[in-house]
Amino acid sequence: MGDHGRNVAVMALLVFAIGGYASAEAHQDRICLADPPVDVPTRQVIPINDHLIAFYDGRNTLRLSPEPNWVDDAANKLGVATYAIHHGDEAIVFDTFPTIDQAQWQRSTLEGMGITHFTVVTSHWHNDHIAGNEVYQDSEIVMTARGLQLMTDLKADLEAGTTLFGPPAINPVILPTQTFEGSMVLHLGGIGGIGGIRVELRQINIHSPDETVIVLPADRLLLSGDTTEDTETFMVEYADLKIHAENLRKMKRWTDFDRILPNHGDPERIAAGGYDKSFITATADYIESMVAGARKRDFLGAPLEDFAGKALRRCDVRLFEPYREVHEFNKAGVFSVWGVK
Ligand SMILES: [Zn+2]
Repeated sequence: MGDHGRNVAVMALLVFAIGGYASAEAHQDRICLADPPVDVPTRQVIPINDHLIAFYDGRNTLRLSPEPNWVDDAANKLGVATYAIHHGDEAIVFDTFPTIDQAQWQRSTLEGMGITHFTVVTSHWHNDHIAGNEVYQDSEIVMTARGLQLMTDLKADLEAGTTLFGPPAINPVILPTQTFEGSMVLHLGGIGGIGGIRVELRQINIHSPDETVIVLPADRLLLSGDTTEDTETFMVEYADLKIHAENLRKMKRWTDFDRILPNHGDPERIAAGGYDKSFITATADYIESMVAGARKRDFLGAPLEDFAGKALRRCDVRLFEPYREVHEFNKAGVFSVWGVK
């Protein structure tokens, strides 16, 4: 994790603007585009149904700092969604945002709805999903056992801002209070598991080895964490990419959901109730074509359209321009593991 080479790659991505997309321009007219970044605050609370709300921030040009940093460049610029499943005075919060300020906004919004009892479920250890945990220090925080292990191993680096994501630091890091392996079921409301809302947590190695997704079977919804991302997945665990693609195809075969709500996606799609399962295919196809493409000539010069073109033309995902930088970062990482040197 603390690999210096990766640190350099991340910072290189953040520091240098990416240019020169002649062949991308040629494809541009045939692909689906998301709304471009705006210059104003974008925080919004999006009701999905009577017991699920989304919180959305980002996809704008506002920054915390002019210096390269993960909050602006690897999270808010791309857009961040978090979710709360609520019933009476209780809520399950799925991830706590990249900053304390955003997490406070999330919590005070829920408190304004009369919610006094919170359980946080953390999708995975990456900075943008755990930084707001400090706001929920008085609450149960649930995560996979693998996530606790990773967060414990990386605690000093997270608190110093020296993980592969770099600064800013997250200090103090608030660790989960409860862990699980494989799967876990939570209930909101109801008595003895009867009635109320059934919330199924499932660990699956996609994007990060400690990743948790949530299935709400009664709503036929999947809260997908970072297993799917629109425009394309942000790769970190390059050696596991074939496992990720395989597990995505397995997840797609789960029969208890039809719609998908991600932590990084298009706010319009989230507000419209989420993505369908073609979103999972789009992610798996991108991963597989990147791994295969790493052995071809000119891989490092190839635009996003060469790997996500089918999904972009079908509007399964829509190009949000800042995701071109993520693609450059992904190619560098994929090449380091799967490329021909
Ligand atoms: Zn993320």
